[in-house]
Amino acid sequence: MLQGKTALVTGGARGIGRSIVLELAKGGADVAFTYRSSAQLVDSLVAEVQSLGRKALAVQADATSAKSAVEVIEKVVAEFKRLDILVNNAGITKDNLLLRMSEEEWDSVIQTNMKSVFNYTKAAARTMMGQRYGKVINLSSVVGLKGNAGQSNYAASKAGIIGFTRSIAKELASRNILVNAVAPGYIDTDMTAALTEEQKKAVLDSIPLKRVAKPDDVAKLVLFLASPDSDYITGQVISVDGGMSV
Ligand code: NDP
Repeated sequence: MLQGKTALVTGGARGIGRSIVLELAKGGADVAFTYRSSAQLVDSLVAEVQSLGRKALAVQADATSAKSAVEVIEKVVAEFKRLDILVNNAGITKDNLLLRMSEEEWDSVIQTNMKSVFNYTKAAARTMMGQRYGKVINLSSVVGLKGNAGQSNYAASKAGIIGFTRSIAKELASRNILVNAVAPGYIDTDMTAALTEEQKKAVLDSIPLKRVAKPDDVAKLVLFLASPDSDYITGQVISVDGGMSV
């Protein structure tokens, strides 16, 4: 489906990002990914992508830096000659109740989750406009749709991504650049492993399908949005959450 296409995934070394890198490579794309601290996981992922017959490129970069986003896109285009698919996946949580939340907890979550999406989408847009083709897929969350006590910083960042997605979809549609968001529910990764048993049980009770999802469940939706099968879909937020947001 993605033969001849190239992709960049931010925060691709582990979790949902890693599944997305592999799913896009299985789909036929050459895939670049950024990582910040998970250097020990990079070589094995590069090898896995290459074993699928695709090119891989790993770049260490902090997604909060606009300057480094420009440099990453330049590297990807120099290596792959074009950039068709951008997946803005990098994200963190720093949960706290409002009155206990520090300015640092607020700022770092907004910078990492939301500003990074601006950084990479802006840096990629020029190349995609020149190609008259591009797919941008942003990782939002069920929490961005519904809110969650103790996660006001995270919810604000993920709701902000939805506003950004819809606006940029309108802005770039005339250049055949399609921009969508996915809103995962509860996915089994390091991020959710940090929850207490009590929190996990409460979340599970709120999922109509009564099970936690795997990163692959999200990656398959991203593959669809990256593929020509979704060429008439833009500005949308698609949930992959076992019915949690209903
Ligand atoms: P993980 O905690 O497992 O992985 C987070 C990823 O983000 C890592 O690859 C990490 O890179 C990267 N990252 C974090 N900060 C930065 C930064 N400053 N610059 C570059 N990369 C960074 O999270 P998940 O895989 O669970 O989440 C992936 C995305 O999906 C996030 O946006 C998250 O908000 C969203 N999501 C997750 C849900 C879940 O239930 N897990 C539910 C809804 C949405 P490194 O390890 O190299 O530092």
